[in-house]
Amino acid sequence: MKLLEERIIQDGRILPGDVLKIDNFLNHQIDVRLMDQIGDEFYKLFKDTAPTRIMTIEASGIAIAMSTSRSFGYLPIVFAKKTAASNMSSDVYQAKEHSYTRNVDYTVHVAKNYLSKDDRVLILDDFLANGEAMKALISICEQAGAEVVGCGAVVAKTYQPGERTLKGMGYKVEVLARVKSMSDDGKIEFED
Ligand code: 5GP
Repeated sequence: MKLLEERIIQDGRILPGDVLKIDNFLNHQIDVRLMDQIGDEFYKLFKDTAPTRIMTIEASGIAIAMSTSRSFGYLPIVFAKKTAASNMSSDVYQAKEHSYTRNVDYTVHVAKNYLSKDDRVLILDDFLANGEAMKALISICEQAGAEVVGCGAVVAKTYQPGERTLKGMGYKVEVLARVKSMSDDGKIEFED
């Protein structure tokens, strides 16, 4: 997605640990117009998979999921929570995730009543690095007996294994900006 790549070049910053910071339009401040264009793009890429539900993980995935839901004509969204709140049902699906940016393990949760075996789930997230977050969401879908019809990431760093791993598991994976390399002097290159 050309527009997204241009925005990443314009506003992205590279942090130690191979972290691309795009928090002035996606991870902190949100550019809703761009988010809606991202939603339209995911709609084009996944409409043939006929999802019944979008699944993501808090917090940054939620805005992406909302725009994509609108493009699909308002699909329900469920997002995995990273902490168990006291008011959360104990009837939950759980999976372990190792957080790339925080370098800690989380147990992520989804309440059982928001996912069923009849669901066809489109999983969306902001970044795809090693694939840990997406694999945790896939595990939750498996526990529910729901079918994962696709995995979409706004950005993937293609020199990290996440995209390859998920494709190797047989999933349809679509990425809107595929970063081939990031260098210490701030240069970001994309796959063609
Ligand atoms: P993975 O689980 O695929 O290793 O990493 C994806 C998750 O880690 C995403 O949910 C995202 O929040 C975070 N992440 C991974 N790489 C980056 C990055 O370069 N920049 C930002 N902002 N988040 C990242």
